[in-house]
Amino acid sequence: MPGRVLLRHPSSLEHETGAHPESPRRIVAIERELAARDWLGWDVRESPPAARASIQAVHPSAHVDRIEALAAIGGGMIDMDTPVSSGSWVAALHAAGGAIAMVDALLGSDGFRVGASLHRPPGHHATAGRAMGFCLFNNVAIAAQHALDSGGAERVLIVDWDVHHGNGTNDIFYARDDVLFCSIHQWPLYPGTGRESDAGTGAGEGYTVNLPVPGGSGNDVFVSLIEHVVRPLARAYEPGLILVSAGYDAHADDPLASCFVTDAGYAAMSASVRAMAGELGVALGIVLEGGYDLGALARGVAITLEAVGSERAPAVAEAKLHPLAAHAREGLAAGRWPSLA
Ligand SMILES: [Zn+2]
Repeated sequence: MPGRVLLRHPSSLEHETGAHPESPRRIVAIERELAARDWLGWDVRESPPAARASIQAVHPSAHVDRIEALAAIGGGMIDMDTPVSSGSWVAALHAAGGAIAMVDALLGSDGFRVGASLHRPPGHHATAGRAMGFCLFNNVAIAAQHALDSGGAERVLIVDWDVHHGNGTNDIFYARDDVLFCSIHQWPLYPGTGRESDAGTGAGEGYTVNLPVPGGSGNDVFVSLIEHVVRPLARAYEPGLILVSAGYDAHADDPLASCFVTDAGYAAMSASVRAMAGELGVALGIVLEGGYDLGALARGVAITLEAVGSERAPAVAEAKLHPLAAHAREGLAAGRWPSLA
């Protein structure tokens, strides 16, 4: 079995959000499901808090100070969607710290090839200077930046299959070519960004790949985009590390969006990223984002861990070339990625 490490921390339960879909119950549901399966044999570790310098490699100190100060006075609302409670600061430190520790385990000498960082608050909507969309610090961006800064990887691929556009991650790496950001998201939907034409700028032109899909999209669309667009992009880009912003809110049961991915779809997407990492010979890290139907979320995480943790890459089901994937390939091939022709 390849070495598999799972980072978690009880402070994820102390980020209190009141009557809110992004609730501590999400982590309870995930951990109950995984514990019932004996954590699938993964090496389970408690996440350390992130060093402030690692967070500030992505977020300006004023942003970090603001979250700390708001939690210290007992919390408040950052915007309509994004509450902070007294426990949020410590929870956010461990959510970022777990993603960093996962990267260290994957890129260090420990021999781990697959990791998962399962915390809340989630991160992919947080821009460098702004908490939003239930997200305080951008955990996956901090992890990617840490991988680059530590010399563990020269290039990082981030695959974001949360149903919402990962606008924060998009913006943080928009002008850079050392992170390739690929996002599949329902559009239009919160936060409204992520058009196909938003493809990076300057040195980063072509290194942001937005793959918007209409509401009602299901396994055929999502799996095809991962297998027939993201996977060949990964081959062309040759990252030293693959991170997945893993949300489970494209599931048919999710209350916040209207896509129709099923458990089988998440199994196929997970198998595809497992195969991607396997063929490139690089480590793979899963970072939890959204997912608001507790059953679909808990099963989805377990399905992903099972697929990415398997010794041999499982077969990718339902991977016919969908017209949306064919269209995306054409556009990418005409630009920075001729090998997708
Ligand atoms: Zn989401």
